[in-house]
Amino acid sequence: MMAQRPGFPLKLEKASPAPRSLKTNAPVKSALQSDVKSAPMLSQNLGMDSSAVRQRMVQKLAAQGLQDPMVLQAMGTVERHRFVESALVAQAYEDTSLPIGLGQTISKPNVVARMIELLREGADGKLGRVLEIGTGCGYQAAVLSHVATEVYSIERLKGLHEKARANLRHFRLANVHLLFGDGMLGYPKGAPYAAIISAAGGESVPQAWLDQLAVGGRLVAPTVTASGQQALMVIDKTPHGFKQNVLEAVHFVPLKSGVS
Ligand code: SAH
Repeated sequence: MMAQRPGFPLKLEKASPAPRSLKTNAPVKSALQSDVKSAPMLSQNLGMDSSAVRQRMVQKLAAQGLQDPMVLQAMGTVERHRFVESALVAQAYEDTSLPIGLGQTISKPNVVARMIELLREGADGKLGRVLEIGTGCGYQAAVLSHVATEVYSIERLKGLHEKARANLRHFRLANVHLLFGDGMLGYPKGAPYAAIISAAGGESVPQAWLDQLAVGGRLVAPTVTASGQQALMVIDKTPHGFKQNVLEAVHFVPLKSGVS
């Protein structure tokens, strides 16, 4: 498993954006051999490396059957390593879920891409307003920001809400709105939503989500099914009522009520 890890340097710094003025095509070696072993030079080259590793991740996603070009493009754009603790940076582009603090996890890339692909199925161009329940570290909200016009993302744990705010600051995504609150109540002010996506699994789908979904909209949420297992639930709100589909088994952290 270790051998398969992406080979970009472990020292990839979370808080070192590549300065735009330093973008060159200088090979890594010459930069390191030069007298200027400064942080900007390093971060410039590491930035290039992380892009290559991300493209490899996208190729794997495509090989796993993910097809939506807009989703693959978004997955290739968002720097996942900026959302995980520095000790886990080397695993940021592996297809694995990772701890993000307070007992919560960032979903593995395949699951993020799969759920967003389901949200976009049949959609023409970008989605309209999207509601995400469970901001966590903010990664999925960042991916969503590339496939939707507006993203409302709600988190019930203050510590993670603040962490997501800090993580996302770097990206300056004007269409992402982070909210602190109980996502089981949805966020009526932004309704109706073209799509609703939950990153936490409940016993059932809260009524508020169904109410706040636009007609023609789609909801994707991990939900406990009759067998007692969690599976991806896809619900379409049609002019004639709700259409529900239960897809593959998944393992998400639990959907909880209230804030903390
Ligand atoms: N999308 C996130 C995944 C976070 S894990 C990411 O990219 O990092 C799921 C998150 O759902 C956890 O942070 C958990 O605190 C949150 N959560 C659980 N129940 C919730 C609720 N009722 N309202 C809002 N967030 C909730």
